[in-house]
Amino acid sequence: MNTPSFRIGDLDIRSFSDGILRTSLDMIVNMERAQSEGLVGGTDNGWLFIPVNNFAFRREGKTLLIDAGAGNTMQPTLGKLPENLRAGGIPPESVDYIVLTHIHPDHANGLVDDKGEAIYPNAEILVHADEYDFWMAENQPGDSAKLQAVRDRNKFNMRPYRERTRRMRDGEEVLGCTPILAAGHSPGHTCWRVMSGRESFLAWGDIVHLSAVQISHPDTALTYDLDPDKARQSRHRILDMAANERVVVAGAHVNAPGFGHVVRKGATYAFESA
Ligand SMILES: [Zn+2]
Repeated sequence: MNTPSFRIGDLDIRSFSDGILRTSLDMIVNMERAQSEGLVGGTDNGWLFIPVNNFAFRREGKTLLIDAGAGNTMQPTLGKLPENLRAGGIPPESVDYIVLTHIHPDHANGLVDDKGEAIYPNAEILVHADEYDFWMAENQPGDSAKLQAVRDRNKFNMRPYRERTRRMRDGEEVLGCTPILAAGHSPGHTCWRVMSGRESFLAWGDIVHLSAVQISHPDTALTYDLDPDKARQSRHRILDMAANERVVVAGAHVNAPGFGHVVRKGATYAFESA
């Protein structure tokens, strides 16, 4: 199968879809519906469909996968990552590292099957320490029911990997991958910079969840953001960095296959697919 790919230095970064996520403009907390409808080009009563992109590459004989999709936990249109990887010549058993941008259902529920067995039995996890520690902590009495449910599920997701999870911090590096903490959407939400020679690319996870809205309007917050103000600051910082450096970005929810550049547009930004 020919998978879309992008060359960075001597790496071929390939994009693998987990499928299509049905989502809603109702999750936007600070924009009028008419404006968001206009930005996304119309919806079916507020419903719209966004891609769930994952990325894989080989380096020094190892196979790295960025994020792990939703598995069969969310919608029937998701959970396609393992079969798409297989079709692209990457059986899940051959994955050596899974690099997590954050531990949310559409990025991490696909780590395990229904019984909690690892889909990627030989993979080591790279995840920011802040993200891992937050989700592996005990639930607190004041936590919302939703937060507690995600935390319980995340412990289930991580269980078979706990002995082979590397908690990382900014500045540390594994196989050219360095985490850049960009918290807010989740407490340890991370953009991963991958260097090859003088080139680099940035897997930015959910720095934007609704790309048609949040790149041109970075102040737009979502109900999914655990800390909307922090998420806003992180979004501005990463968009600014991506535009300054002209780095190739890879977004989990930007137009498939997900590669592009951020350019300045007046006081804000636009995305150019690569
Ligand atoms: Zn997401």
